[in-house]
Amino acid sequence: MSYAGMTDVEASASNRIVDLRSDTVTRPGESMRRAMAEAEVGDDVYGEDATINALEEKVAALLGKEAGLFMASGTQSNLIALLSHCQRGEEYIAGEEYHVFAEEAGGASVLGGVVAHPLSVDARGAITPGQVESRIKPDDFHYPVTRLVCLENTFSGHVQPIAEQEAIAAVARRHGLSVHLDGARLMNAAVALGQPPAAVGACADSISLCLSKGLGAPVGSVLSGTSDFIARARRLRKMLGGGMRQGGVLAACGLHALDHNIDRLAEDHANARRLAEGLAKCKGLDVDPVETNMIFIAPTEEDLEPLRAHLAARGIIIAAQRPRTRLVTHLDITSEDVERTIETFGEFYKG
Ligand SMILES: *Cc1c(COP(=O)(O)O)cnc(C)c1O
Repeated sequence: MSYAGMTDVEASASNRIVDLRSDTVTRPGESMRRAMAEAEVGDDVYGEDATINALEEKVAALLGKEAGLFMASGTQSNLIALLSHCQRGEEYIAGEEYHVFAEEAGGASVLGGVVAHPLSVDARGAITPGQVESRIKPDDFHYPVTRLVCLENTFSGHVQPIAEQEAIAAVARRHGLSVHLDGARLMNAAVALGQPPAAVGACADSISLCLSKGLGAPVGSVLSGTSDFIARARRLRKMLGGGMRQGGVLAACGLHALDHNIDRLAEDHANARRLAEGLAKCKGLDVDPVETNMIFIAPTEEDLEPLRAHLAARGIIIAAQRPRTRLVTHLDITSEDVERTIETFGEFYKG
């Protein structure tokens, strides 16, 4: 057997794997699996899955929107949001590093004929009201029709302040545009800001929330917005083959995650701060400041692969991104795992 590219020998060097690549790697624990087993289900295409209905209502209420729609993934949720907001030949504006533009295989353009206008982002992933306003096209037949602004919070672990997001949304509204918020990790932002999720999402007409990241569900996202918007999204989800039947067994995980795993994100954030503080003591290792559950480090090009091998041999898995690589804390990372990771980095950097 191999795990994340580790051989048996490597994996057995430690009885506990510390996987810091992403907060998507969490596995459902006993109580979540029990919730799956006990979930009331029905045919969701007929609107009869009570657990999916409850999840959709719960997310909509949490985010202050009228309605929700359970999706297979965050990518599906963003894609359907864009297609629901924009017709062919219409345009959305987004940060050039935002997931919706950069990491979703151009879905809205490929499948919906939607045009993208990417904006440069600052080091924290922010775009400005001025940037947005300057790119909104006048009513001129040479141009696509600007329809939507896409925001992302958190972006690469950075919290976007509510006032900044509201200022961008105000520009959008003044020009008759809608706002979609990719809130894959919106709950991390809410916990870091000490604000209710609805306050973080108030800038947006629609929100995509991932259940399968820090919240710890195995599958799923929920798109929320007005009832009309969600009705259009429901047709598009069916069109794209995403109509689920007895999906309540999956929705049960989402409900369980929302009931148990929001407030505890503060532990992930504390673990991330502790990890960053410990790693910053490694001579020659550049560590960025931490805002939520992501730590970015910049090992030198010569160090990166030997470092990853040293860690892997001791049961610790990190990603191999360049020039900065990302460590992510989550539900399955304990404070003991953090201390062990700091020690293991320390051994490597002592040489
Ligand atoms: C993970 C992520 C998505 C997409 O979610 P998938 O479930 O992996 O498709 C979208 N946006 C952001 C910001 C993400 O981090």
